Parts: sequence; structure tokens; C-alpha cells
Amino acid sequence: MTYRITVIICLLFAGLFLGCQDHQVNPDGTPKVSVALPSLPVKVTNTVGEWLVYDLHLHTPPGSTLQKIDVMRGNEVLSTFTDFSIRKDSFYLAHIWLPYPRSGWDVDVLTNRFQVSQSGRTSVSTFQVKIDRQYPDQRRVGFPVPSGTWFTEDAPDPSSLHTRALFLFPQPVFDPAQNGYVIGNNPQRYAIDFTKVVDGLPYKNKGDKNEDWYNYNLPVMAAEGGTVVFTADGFANNGTPGKIDYPIDFTNITGNVVYIEHSDGTLAMYAHMIPNSIRVKVGQKVTAGQELGRLGNSGNSIAPHLHFHVVANPDRKKLVNYSDGLFLEGLPYSFPAFRKLGTAPDNFLTKQPVSLFTPTTSELFTNVIPQKSAVIEF
Ligand SMILES: [Zn+2]
Repeated sequence: MTYRITVIICLLFAGLFLGCQDHQVNPDGTPKVSVALPSLPVKVTNTVGEWLVYDLHLHTPPGSTLQKIDVMRGNEVLSTFTDFSIRKDSFYLAHIWLPYPRSGWDVDVLTNRFQVSQSGRTSVSTFQVKIDRQYPDQRRVGFPVPSGTWFTEDAPDPSSLHTRALFLFPQPVFDPAQNGYVIGNNPQRYAIDFTKVVDGLPYKNKGDKNEDWYNYNLPVMAAEGGTVVFTADGFANNGTPGKIDYPIDFTNITGNVVYIEHSDGTLAMYAHMIPNSIRVKVGQKVTAGQELGRLGNSGNSIAPHLHFHVVANPDRKKLVNYSDGLFLEGLPYSFPAFRKLGTAPDNFLTKQPVSLFTPTTSELFTNVIPQKSAVIEF
């Protein structure tokens, strides 16, 4: 009966009533999970290993709970995921990172098996993700900061704050092609916050002045050549590391920022620079290594650092408003060569007193991206 009424309402308000587009019940009455991929799976190689990476935007019927996702190759469970970065209003965001087989994939699809509970009943549904046998290499870029020893905070990882930080749409958008809801974009899925380390420490003195930080006012350099397509300047530095001086929203989150469009249409973003330090203008061509501005502490930044990431822009969307670049999807990249010296102590930038970083290794890596919390030298 309820179903019949819903159908009638849907016919009357076809296309207007979001909830009608997805009935969320399987023919046997069990809850259906609607699934959307914000972007296609990619291969990511970091200092830990090789991974197949994709996000899932999921919606379960109201009153139900997504308990876990098993990712399966045929009947074999490869990995199980239970830690979702969004669990809100029956929407979930899952970050799937699977070890990439040494010899590549011998299957064309992976099955994502969802376990959902509702009113004490548990049900299972599946969604297949197409995979390629071979993915292209990550795009190769140069370092966006001068040579030295650097802490790569929140480099890509399913537990990284960047990887988990979605920019939500005001309302989830139903994509009829996928038969699922896309709930936002994540431009910073593969972002890195760069902080310089000297003699095992990120700053001298107490670190309560921007000038105490070893990276403050260093040049920020183009990681790849291209055309400057957006800049914003004039946002104040946060004056005291550890504190943000003004409310953060979509009009100031990246602080003083430069976007560069590469020849293939992808964009690189360089954020949090010192006010009035940006040296390039929209329309200007820049070469790899060219100075864009000075590393600062503006916008959503609790200490001087460079936030760097690369996004896809398949529709060549023009960046007009400050927030336009936030609604694009992140792409992985790699650096030609660096040494990993170890990983930094927990809360390396915020803990008082600061813990000294001591190198534990000096392993050379080429054409990979550093792992979360690595300390690297180049
Ligand atoms: Zn960041």
C-alpha cells in the first residue's frame, strides 16, 4: 500500500521529488544501497606500496545502518571497510584503498558487498566496480617547495584528513546515470601539507610566531608549468600558529591561492600564501620551478605550510568565484626522487612541547607520492 502511494506521488511530481528517484528497497523487501562513484578508480603508488583507490558515495534507506563493505575479487574478500568519513542522514562516504596486485588485475570487476542492518535484520547487497587491468602512472610533477627536509602532513591515505575532507553539496545530487547520489567533491583527496624540518624540528623558539617556522616566507614554486587561471590575494596571515583569527568558509578557506592549468586541463592548487606575496597574474604562463609567491599561514591554516594538490577539470570549468576550484575531484601525482627519512611523531606540529623527529631510514624513492606523516629529503 505504502509503495503504491509512493508511486502515485512520484508520477505526480516526477523529477521534482528527489526521494522518488530511488526506491531503496530490493524486490525482496530488504534495504537497497544506492551507490555513486565521484570519480573512476585510479592506481596510487606511495612510499608504502601500490594501491587501487576509489571513493564510494552511499545512501541507505532511512533508519538503516551500513555496517561494513567487503571488497571482493570473485568470492575472495580482499579487504573490509567499516570506517566511513561521513555517516549522516543515511549517507556514507567510503574510501577504498586496495593493495594493487604485483602482476596487475586478472579480473574486470570488483564486487563491493554492503552489509546493512535495519530493525534487527541484516541484509546484503552488492555493487560492481569496473577495473582496468592496467592503470596509467601518476602524473609526474616537481616539488612545489625548495629542496630540504619536509614533513608531508596528511598525504593521501584513507585516514588522512585531506582524503576524508569532502566539500558537501547543499543537497545530495541524484545522478540518474549512476542511479546514486553524489554528495560532494573532494579536490584534496591527494593533497599534501608541506612543512619544513630543520634539525628534527619544524620551528625555532616557541613556534608561536609565523617567523619562528623554518618554512615561513620560503618560495612556493610551480610543480608543473602551465597557465595561471585563478589567484586570490590579500587574506591576512593567522598571526599566532595554533590559532585561526577569522571564521573560515568557502570564501577564504584556502587563503591566498594560485591555480595553474596544465596542458591537459588538470589544475594544481597552491594555498595559504603570505598576503600580497603572489607574483603571478591570471593568464600568465609559468614554467616548472617558477616562484608563485611566498609560503604563509593564511586561510584555514594553523601553522605556516604549503597545501598543494592537483584536480581533474574534464569540462574545463572556468574558475570565476573563489569556491569554484573546491568542487572538482583530486588526482594523484608523484615526485621524481626523494629520500624517506621516517615518519614524524604524532601531532608533530601541534604538540607542546614539540617532539624531536629523528631519522630512522634514508630510503630512496622515485616517481611515487610520500605517505601520510612522512619526513622526506630532496
Ligand atoms: Zn591542507
